[in-house]
Amino acid sequence: MDAPVLVLNANFEPLNVCSTRRAVGLLVAGRAEMLLNGRCYVHTVRLTYPRPSIIRLGHMVKRPRPRVRLTKREIFRRDGFACQYCGARAHRLTIDHVVPRHRGGDHSWSNLVTACAACNLRKGGRTLLEAHMVLLRPVHEPHASASYLFAGHLPENQAWLPYLEGW
Ligand SMILES: [Zn+2]
Repeated sequence: MDAPVLVLNANFEPLNVCSTRRAVGLLVAGRAEMLLNGRCYVHTVRLTYPRPSIIRLGHMVKRPRPRVRLTKREIFRRDGFACQYCGARAHRLTIDHVVPRHRGGDHSWSNLVTACAACNLRKGGRTLLEAHMVLLRPVHEPHASASYLFAGHLPENQAWLPYLEGW
């Protein structure tokens, strides 16, 4: 009952992922329809329900355009889990402030990059110019497309892909 279910807005925009339990609750309450069912069935006390994989809400949920949360994990993911100075996919990755904090660097997508421990140590508290280092590519906030936001669920839920593309 904890298996993830993709929830679409009334206009088919992917909204979030909820548990099977919550999705069945929405279906039973008539607040959502099932777009795709998983292969099994859910048995409740009184009913047998096809296990949902994707549901669509009957009403429109208004919300601001989603953004990718600025976290260490999301920075690593944006950078392909590779050091942005040497390209190494090191085991021990760190976060580096391109412009050091004590030099006015902020906590933002364009100032935080993935760095291996060696590059981070080499750069120290210096700017790129001072350290004679360059970034492999410019960094910026990742576009919060549905495929990006829900990428973690795709290996197990390939059937979601057509519903995520284009959002
Ligand atoms: Zn490195």
